Amino acid sequence: MVVRVCVVGSGGREHALAHVLARTADVVVTPGNPGIPGSQATPPEEVEADLFVVGPEAPLVDGLADRLRGAGRLVFGPGADGARLEGSKAWMKDLLAAAAVPTARYGSFADAAAALGFLRTLPGPWVVKTDGLAAGKGVLVTGQLDEAEDDVRTKLSGESFGDAGRTVVIEEGLTGPELSVLAICDGTRAVPLAPAQDFKRVGDGDTGPNTGGMGAYSPVPVAGDDVVGTVMDRFVEPTLAELCRRGIDYRGVLYAGLMLTPDGPRLLEYNVRFGDPEAQVVLPRLASDLAELLAAAAAGDLRRAPPPAFGPDACVTVVLASEGYPGEPRRGDVIEGIDAAEAQGATVFVAGVERDGDGRLVTAGGRVLAVTGGGATVAAARRHAYAAAGCVSWPGMHYRTDIALSESEEAPTG
Ligand code: AMP
Repeated sequence: MVVRVCVVGSGGREHALAHVLARTADVVVTPGNPGIPGSQATPPEEVEADLFVVGPEAPLVDGLADRLRGAGRLVFGPGADGARLEGSKAWMKDLLAAAAVPTARYGSFADAAAALGFLRTLPGPWVVKTDGLAAGKGVLVTGQLDEAEDDVRTKLSGESFGDAGRTVVIEEGLTGPELSVLAICDGTRAVPLAPAQDFKRVGDGDTGPNTGGMGAYSPVPVAGDDVVGTVMDRFVEPTLAELCRRGIDYRGVLYAGLMLTPDGPRLLEYNVRFGDPEAQVVLPRLASDLAELLAAAAAGDLRRAPPPAFGPDACVTVVLASEGYPGEPRRGDVIEGIDAAEAQGATVFVAGVERDGDGRLVTAGGRVLAVTGGGATVAAARRHAYAAAGCVSWPGMHYRTDIALSESEEAPTG
């Protein structure tokens, strides 16, 4: 039995993991943050726990799961080999091709002339991605060829994203609703969690630059069991099989970011960790034991745990961001109203914060809080989340007002 779990990371996703794991286990979070209960500065290598859950992509790409496993720990999270799915988009696209997984047409380039040549063969819209990690901000989608060309040049020069951009992946632009399906993998088997949809752009109506994510909701009406089944059969299973063929024992979350195009679902990206803010709406809906599920996956045998089960209630989360985000966020603004938001029955997941000299919680990052509301319908959950978010304030705080709006239109009555 898993009695003590160590969650590695310091953001809203790790808070959501800790919050739901704490239903059945003792949880420590390292390093966590002043808003996450159980946070401690001890490095994960020095923590005693029955199970380690590595939250963010950077330590996974950096091999933290390998090091912990090497020390005999039970770890949920892929090794550096599997984490390349997220650490290198070019490697990921090549793996998709080998696994015959449907995805956008693409080329990867380190050379500007070749990149621009390929770009000009595509009809547009154009998509330019950094090969390496860029905190969700390395993707340009544009209808302007000249803008795409400029972006290729600045990324390849290292000016905009450093070494992460010295190889770019250029893709044809696809259209359609987006969907995130997170699957829990034990190396050879995978089970899906409830789908979620997130909102990437900073502004209402999907305007402004991309962010790490400004809100999310679950369940997703367009993604019934049939769609999830297709995602497992045509995307997740073949990917896991191809990873196995390459000798990669993938134990962790495989997060499939998909677009439901008129020609069927296409894979946009894989992430190797729970989505943030998807975790803040998917995990609270779990009716089964998360610690048991993740421990079974980490041990290489998902059959040891019951399949994940979800309650009928919907969740909506609204991300509250600091002045300047997604550019340089302003630090040090005093956050008020978290208790009032929680008094409304919402859950406030805490990310970019620190304590100032007077012990007050202040902003210390771009995405500061994610306020999750629940309800019998997406509309009810949305009202709950926004009522609670309205209790919170700090100078320069901003958030989207249209998270889950189009999914909340209730049938007119009378
Ligand atoms: P990624 O990090 O690869 O998921 O890209 C971030 C966001 O860019 C996605 O959530 C989509 O909104 C958009 N995007 C990525 N690839 C494409 C594509 N081929 N066509 C249209 N939009 C895309």
